[in-house]
Amino acid sequence: MALALVARWQRFWIRRRLPAPRRFRYERFGGIVQLRYPQALVFVDRARARSLGYDAPPPGLWPDTPQPADEAADGAPADAGTLHDSTRPLSAPLEAHLQLTNRCSAGCRGCYTGATSEGGPHEWGLQQWQAALDELAAAGVFHVALGGGESAELPWLGELLRHARARGLVPNLTTSGLYDDAVLERLCDWAGQGLFGQINISLDGVGADYAAVRGFDGFARADRALVALRAVHKNVGINCVLTQRSFAGLPALFAHARRRRLSEVELLRFKPAGRGARRDTYESLRCTDAQHRQLLPTALQLSRRHRVRVRVDCSFTPMLTHHKPPPELLSFLAVYGCAGGDLLVAARAGGQLAACSFAPPENTATTALRQYFHSAAAFSPFRSWPAAQEPCRSCSYLALCRGGCRVVSAHVSGDARAPDPECPRVLDYRASRPGPDPVHNVPVSQKGDAESMTQRASRQLKVLG
Ligand code: SF4
Ligand code: SF4
Repeated sequence: MALALVARWQRFWIRRRLPAPRRFRYERFGGIVQLRYPQALVFVDRARARSLGYDAPPPGLWPDTPQPADEAADGAPADAGTLHDSTRPLSAPLEAHLQLTNRCSAGCRGCYTGATSEGGPHEWGLQQWQAALDELAAAGVFHVALGGGESAELPWLGELLRHARARGLVPNLTTSGLYDDAVLERLCDWAGQGLFGQINISLDGVGADYAAVRGFDGFARADRALVALRAVHKNVGINCVLTQRSFAGLPALFAHARRRRLSEVELLRFKPAGRGARRDTYESLRCTDAQHRQLLPTALQLSRRHRVRVRVDCSFTPMLTHHKPPPELLSFLAVYGCAGGDLLVAARAGGQLAACSFAPPENTATTALRQYFHSAAAFSPFRSWPAAQEPCRSCSYLALCRGGCRVVSAHVSGDARAPDPECPRVLDYRASRPGPDPVHNVPVSQKGDAESMTQRASRQLKVLG
């Protein structure tokens, strides 16, 4: 009796010390808690889940067997320092990226969806997207990232935002800011009502850098949207697709983010998808190997100097692991690699489900997510990374990185299961072997002084030393 009272008292104090959970989702290992302050998704084991009052999992989810790190398939890699055995997908994605429309008249030369002013065929409307949100919420998805095309111009966007909120989903938005005052005013109105979580404006560089990447000068219009949205909403940031040209402009971009009092800069790798998949476009815009090796020290240095949070997208994970950060630190910071078809999914403008925004669509509608997500053939080849080739197979970050970006592998190597051909470790592995370099068909001798770049970057990276 006394012991039971002590246990209850301890649980009470644990609950008092933790911020109140907003939502909870049961998983094999325990569950995922969505916190309001700080905004975070926290993976907890079964004991912690019980202490938070969640001790009624769906039947069969918590059998009386060892914890999930012990449940990994024989010989398969499990996440170092995490609860989650990433060889098995979660019960549902954490987030879904919804391309609400493929209509956009900006005409950016590297647009990953190939958006046009006419939009795509058979695009979904409000009611279909509302049904998709119902399905995502029922599956247990926490966030939706709304993009396009240009979703901000959809007249029914406000109604969809309210629908998402009513279902407990947090809607975030990526937008170009390249529209007239009436659209911007309406967007500010929705933002002022607190309908969005995070709003990021696509800004691939400051001033002339913007035009060099996008092919037209839209900086002033995009910046006016930044100013207007920041005036009514505190979680406004920048999405920057990093290219050969824009890399050198990162200091100016971070300084601009600071000047505009923005909450974050998110750096995205240029993807060979949509118009970006044209061979000359991809080759001329993708970052060089030297830039990839410099990415982490550069981003950390600028983030610290300007006191602006920096995030990098999933496809940059090989460029982070290149600097050998402790895997536990990456897990703690929720850095994960190619999690398409598992931690995240996407939907095309016509409602087709996809592993991520850049991957080809599956032959399934988003409204059938729960049924498809657990089928054996779902999201192949995204889920085949435990059978990765060398040098991913022996890489200590495989369970986090999952072999790098499948979309880049498919485009460059012709095989979506191949190791990411732009990962520094993959390049070094191939350079150490005789014969022609299969990556980008460039002789190894012309690829630059990769080793000295690595050493230089490591010296600058004291924080991870
Ligand atoms: S293929 Fe994987 S790493 Fe590349 S963008 Fe999609 S989810 Fe991210
Ligand atoms: S070798 Fe493979 S698993 Fe390791 S960091 Fe590179 S792409 Fe990722």
